[in-house]
Amino acid sequence: MSDPDMLHPELRAPDDSDSITRQGRRLDHAEATSKPLRSRPEPQPRGAKIHGNRPIDQAEAAARFLAAPEHEKMHDERLWDLRQKRDREMHGIPEWEELRSLASAIKEHTLTHLDEYLDQFEANARRNGVHVHWARDAAEHNRIVHGILKDHGAKTLVKSKSMLTEECGFRPYMASVGIEVIETDLGERIQQLDNEDPSHIVVPAVHKLRTDVAEVFSKTIGTDPDNSDVHYLAEAQRESNRPLILAADAGMTGCNFAVAETGGVVVCTNEGNADLSANVPKLHIASIGIEKIIPRLEHLAVFVRLLSRSALGSPITQYTSHFRGPRQGSEMHFVLVDNGRSERLGLDEFWTSLKCIRCGACMNTCPVYRRSGGLSYGATYSGPIGLIIDPTFNARKYSNLPFASTLNGSCSNVCPVKINIHEQIYAWRRELVKQHEVPFVKKAAMKAAGELLSRPAAYRAAIAATNLALGHLPRFVLYNGLNAWGKGRENPRPPRQSFHSWHLANRGDKA
Ligand code: SF4
Repeated sequence: MSDPDMLHPELRAPDDSDSITRQGRRLDHAEATSKPLRSRPEPQPRGAKIHGNRPIDQAEAAARFLAAPEHEKMHDERLWDLRQKRDREMHGIPEWEELRSLASAIKEHTLTHLDEYLDQFEANARRNGVHVHWARDAAEHNRIVHGILKDHGAKTLVKSKSMLTEECGFRPYMASVGIEVIETDLGERIQQLDNEDPSHIVVPAVHKLRTDVAEVFSKTIGTDPDNSDVHYLAEAQRESNRPLILAADAGMTGCNFAVAETGGVVVCTNEGNADLSANVPKLHIASIGIEKIIPRLEHLAVFVRLLSRSALGSPITQYTSHFRGPRQGSEMHFVLVDNGRSERLGLDEFWTSLKCIRCGACMNTCPVYRRSGGLSYGATYSGPIGLIIDPTFNARKYSNLPFASTLNGSCSNVCPVKINIHEQIYAWRRELVKQHEVPFVKKAAMKAAGELLSRPAAYRAAIAATNLALGHLPRFVLYNGLNAWGKGRENPRPPRQSFHSWHLANRGDKA
């Protein structure tokens, strides 16, 4: 990346006076320098606390993220940068809305004929010489991959970023059977070395300051703990990972699109790491969520134009790699994974969430996500898309998540496949009430509010009394430990007159 304007200020050099060298040699990929934020870096806030099946307390983890001002500011600004770049790219495509409609229609058609297209994909892949496997759930996926690796005597596996493997708990499983998995995506490798889940589906370590990365790398790959220059760190990771890739017994990729008419898969990356993972070892395994199918190669053009523009505000990913069959002397396996997708397909209000192409645009635009960090959701998928996917895996554990939204609709507006995200979030709230997965206090408060709002006279009397009380009550009545709302906000001064009484006085006779 040579244009400094493309970098977020946190990553950009205040000046370029220091060349980046190690042992007198300028690093190949070093194009600028950057300085530590301050001598004593702010500690990185960690994500939600997980207690088995108990509901994730997203608000508690978000409060800790908000209490780390450097992280919160950087995270908010960096993601808003992506949103603005996405907008600029979108305005450069006059037919953008037509593309979104087309992408949505292709996905809806495919999902409603999924069985046919999956059969076609499998038949074509087998014809190309690929071994095709079907996994009902995460456990079966992990067992299948382990079986393939065992058959080949493989002990090390290099892999590119894949949210599906995160969903399947793949790395911990492989560790338990003695197979070393090495992430090749820079952000994903940072998260692996820090023993932390990805916090964003496209930029997994976006919540980390470079001082956090310097700390992780100094402990794990031996970099200088006081050097948080991003190019130095990226180069160090590259040098540490490259020999591992060259020596690996097997490689694994995810899949952005699986094309039924060719039986091939397409993987979009910016680092070329998927190509290394797939092409260097003699064994390539691709994990594919069954919703990744598209019917024809020509449909790919629609999605490729939307994906990178929506994700990072760039016209195209650096690498759009097609894998169709094994190279001579090597083997290729596709594992098609359901893991709850068929069930979701049968949910009237939620099936269109399967259209998601994992671009992350809804996360970048979401004010709650930007200010609370992805790890506060305590789930594989965070942000708006997470709010509608996670409860399908475990309604109790993720019952708080659909409430972490203002329902402003910005997520739906930016979604390249036109998922009605905010409406599904609202539908989940209703569903969770039906399933009795909403805390008693919240339910009682909503019931009381419902009663009040359905009686206009009582509502107006309550508003008048509250406005009067707000002017006279001591502060501690509102701003105390029991009122989570008051922790981060000041109540506005109540107006002297309500809109209703103003309307009656000024416009009442014209109504
Ligand atoms: S829901 Fe839409 S905006 Fe969000 S990640 Fe999926 S495709 Fe992108």
